[in-house]
Amino acid sequence: MKPPVFKYLAPASLDEAVAALADDEAKVLAGGQSLVPMLNFRLLAPSLLVDIGRIPGLDYIKDNGAAGLRIGAMTRHHSLETSELVRQRFPVLNAAMQYVAHLAIRNRGTIGGSLCHADPAAELPGLMLLLDAQLVTTQRTIAAVDFYQGTLDNVLAEDEILTEIQLPALPAGTGWGFEEFARRSGDFALTAVGATVADDVRIAVIGAHDTPLRLTKAEALYPDMDAVVAAARDAVSPNDDLHASADYRRHLVGILTRRALESAT
Ligand SMILES: Cc1cc2nc3c(=O)[nH]c(=O)nc-3n(C[C@H](O)[C@H](O)[C@H](O)COP(=O)(O)OP(=O)(O)OC[C@H]3O[C@@H](n4cnc5c(N)ncnc54)[C@H](O)[C@@H]3O)c2cc1C
Repeated sequence: MKPPVFKYLAPASLDEAVAALADDEAKVLAGGQSLVPMLNFRLLAPSLLVDIGRIPGLDYIKDNGAAGLRIGAMTRHHSLETSELVRQRFPVLNAAMQYVAHLAIRNRGTIGGSLCHADPAAELPGLMLLLDAQLVTTQRTIAAVDFYQGTLDNVLAEDEILTEIQLPALPAGTGWGFEEFARRSGDFALTAVGATVADDVRIAVIGAHDTPLRLTKAEALYPDMDAVVAAARDAVSPNDDLHASADYRRHLVGILTRRALESAT
């Protein structure tokens, strides 16, 4: 399949990109690893693609000291996977990156693209909920937990661009776990669960709801594992599809929540 005809613009600044997005049939192009397949399948037909890949200053991972890390929206998945800073400060993020697609896709795909695409089975959106990320755009700062509205749907305006992801530091000694189940290596998750245990307990799930989800009720029941697992299973509303039934996905949520929490503990 080939994409429908579109115009292409590669602005040199964010201001120019935002101005181009005033055309309400325009779409931001980042790594193209989700957008281009959607064009090829004719699921979208934007008249203009605004390529933000040539705008300087959007690809970085910066140590923000006690405040954590700042990550530019155009940072590639592969940079997250291989960053020593990420490995040291957020080992759960480093560990989860191996599950994101295949190397060729990780070389092109960006953190901003994955977060904005809002696939409920994608790893990075769930991790942003787990890590209490703040998402900085050309207009405002949004807590990751308020960013998702539904499958492939986020709260950004048509002319709003995600520019930076801020990850608040985890307390020293935070335990973590990330457990994913997919049919083949590199496939989207049927379900995955991330957990951290420190002064507070956090659990986030992907692939089992129309958005990534923080399991706040289950978190409050820790350390009663059976109660946590029961609450986690109750919190999700999984899809039935070609790959797995809703019941099976709910079953996986329970198993993976227990395993992720045991690792974190
Ligand atoms: C075969 C295959 C397997 C994959 N497997 C996985 C997987 O297992 N796990 C996983 O998480 N992902 C997977 N992906 C998706 C991959 O991670 C994508 O790279 C990612 O979802 C999108 O990032 P991108 O930079 O390519 O964004 P693009 O495709 O360029 O854009 C995606 C969407 O986000 C919007 N957008 C992009 N950047 C911004 C921004 N800064 N501000 C506002 N809007 C923006 C675009 O307009 C578009 O709507 C897979 C993809 C393929 C092709």
